[in-house]
Amino acid sequence: MAGRVLRIDVITIFPGLFPAFLDESIVGIARRNGLLEVAVHDLRAWTTDRHRSVDDAPYGGGAGMVMKPEPLVAAIEAVAGPIGAPGGAGEAGEGRRRTARVELMTPQGRRLDQAGLEALAGLPHLVLVCGRYEGVDQRAIDLAVDGELSLGDYVLSGGEIPAMAVIEGVARLQPGAMGNPESARIESFQTGLLEGPHYTRPAEFRGRKVPEVLLSGDHAAIARWRAERAREITRERRPDLLVKPSQSKEDES
Ligand code: SAH
Repeated sequence: MAGRVLRIDVITIFPGLFPAFLDESIVGIARRNGLLEVAVHDLRAWTTDRHRSVDDAPYGGGAGMVMKPEPLVAAIEAVAGPIGAPGGAGEAGEGRRRTARVELMTPQGRRLDQAGLEALAGLPHLVLVCGRYEGVDQRAIDLAVDGELSLGDYVLSGGEIPAMAVIEGVARLQPGAMGNPESARIESFQTGLLEGPHYTRPAEFRGRKVPEVLLSGDHAAIARWRAERAREITRERRPDLLVKPSQSKEDES
């Protein structure tokens, strides 16, 4: 547990969205306990013009604005190290990686899932780039971005909420971040299944009773019941999770 701290740098034009999020709950606890270090950077700090502009009209015309490459690449280089330096992204660093991994939030990215979060959670240094407007000049992506992440198949106005989703998702995976280490492991998706229903007191609420088995004290029976409910809800709502390529490969062998 000691010694490994995940460092996350966020690049955004709306840094004011982050402070409350970073102070509360698991993310706040992980930061205060030194398991996670987060710095939020205002992209406008890397602008050089009087108007501090981060966007410009698209070549070829069309609606909306595009994020300019110069301030964005300068910001990424400032937090992740220069492009082309040993291990850097882009052509000059081909075949080698800098220790920072730079991820752009975009609907064109790979869909964020629990396996993806686990991979990111184990890194030493993550840089999350939040897009705005219609998106980012492609050359900035080609030069300075290692990967692209999507929160899902819908369009938000900016990458800040997707970046927060990544931060929260990886914070709770840091060893020691959760009060009960078990609860992070047996959740939905980590078992390949959705999690079943939960109940707390009172034992009867508006005429509805808690399932008998949960009051029985029979831990083996409770575990069986929970596993059955998990399979049932997964079959009903997310049958796709039951036929993951990795699982079907195992089945074949
Ligand atoms: N014109 C783009 C959408 C731009 S939305 C398109 O049609 O694909 C503006 C910014 O919001 C994006 O650059 C991205 O950083 C962020 N964003 C929007 N939806 C997102 C999603 N589902 N996942 C990750 N980032 C998203």
